[in-house]
Amino acid sequence: MPASTDTAPLSTDATIELFDDYVIANYRRFPVSLVRGEGSRVWDSEGREYLDLFPGWGCNLLGHCPPRVVEAVQRQAATLIHVPNTWYTEQQGRWAEMLSTRTAFGGQAFFCNSGTEANEAAIKLARLATPPERYKIITFTGGFHGRTLGSLTATAQPKYHEGLGPLVAGFTYCPFGDIEAVRAAVDESTAAILLEPIQGEGGVRIPPEGFLAELREIADQNELLLIFDEVQTGCGRTGQWFGHQYFNVTPDIITLAKSLCAGVAGGAMLARPEVATSLRPGTHAATFGGNPIAAAAGIAMIETIEAEGLLERAQQISQRLVEGLQAMAEQFEFVREVRAVGLMLGLELEIEGSSIVEECMRQGLLLNCTQQTTLRLLPAMNLSDEEADRGLEILRGVLERAEGEPAEV
Ligand SMILES: *Cc1c(COP(=O)(O)O)cnc(C)c1O
Repeated sequence: MPASTDTAPLSTDATIELFDDYVIANYRRFPVSLVRGEGSRVWDSEGREYLDLFPGWGCNLLGHCPPRVVEAVQRQAATLIHVPNTWYTEQQGRWAEMLSTRTAFGGQAFFCNSGTEANEAAIKLARLATPPERYKIITFTGGFHGRTLGSLTATAQPKYHEGLGPLVAGFTYCPFGDIEAVRAAVDESTAAILLEPIQGEGGVRIPPEGFLAELREIADQNELLLIFDEVQTGCGRTGQWFGHQYFNVTPDIITLAKSLCAGVAGGAMLARPEVATSLRPGTHAATFGGNPIAAAAGIAMIETIEAEGLLERAQQISQRLVEGLQAMAEQFEFVREVRAVGLMLGLELEIEGSSIVEECMRQGLLLNCTQQTTLRLLPAMNLSDEEADRGLEILRGVLERAEGEPAEV
């Protein structure tokens, strides 16, 4: 009998055995089986509690099981779970309106289920909305756009391409932040420039001052589309609704997923209406895109942020965390710098970060390491001051002990 919610959960060891036998081992997993979450706390099957400063890999921007989202999903599940896009549903229309009116460009929405799908839609729209001879898309080293072949090709990181070629034709890579390289790369076949306003997986890389505005200029001068992959920077993560508002640069298209539905699977592309008209019936589709459950969760996500003043809260909690991390950068020689915008926070180390992450986990704190040396926090907007302080304290303790050990890398 499989464990149901009213019986005791299966032990971590027994769960791992199931995975060993039946689940493809394409993820490196911590040997912990999580069973329940609330706010910024999660519990494993042995009843251990963790403070989660990386909830849901950035998807759970309102923490685990935010009450309004839970309630909206429960209500929707009992009313209408799924109907295809051959029909209208009020939820999808209302959700699109709520998103559109919060962008700086009145985007119209195409809904899908993940970030990589949202980027595939943007790549196709870029080709469809520009003249036939224009197909090339410029992206940036260190970027991350997803794992399906189009988005993967857009992801200019060789380690993710190994063994998978030939990739999709028509992508050109420029160094992130190098405006002259972009100017040199643009030609008559270029259709679009695609990038994350802040590189997330690439190590919380913030673009140089003015870079995004200059890309906007280049796009205007050459009739290119400017596409922001806001899968990580969107939906309140930066303390603004979207990253393009944080930088005050208006793209033609944005892509969203991760926190879009507060932990329920959902993705979207929003495009300027004049561009969006190129996505006509027959050109693109996603069976589950904009389904009633995702829409209910997405609406509840926006309502929660506004009802609880969480954009302002995100800025306050960001400041508190940044100050704490900054103190660590001063205290520890091997901490190089803090990079942060809102609730995207990175602590750049001179040593390998994975053992730090593992030790934090043993101490009951969950965070992430990306690009080997960047500790990454993507905390929930409703993290309390006490939780922030406790997280910082655990991390400081772990770094103190690491200080005594010889540096790797
Ligand atoms: C996570 C991520 C993606 C991919 O999203 P999936 O839902 O895993 O397909 C794309 N772009 C960015 C910026 C991301 O952070």
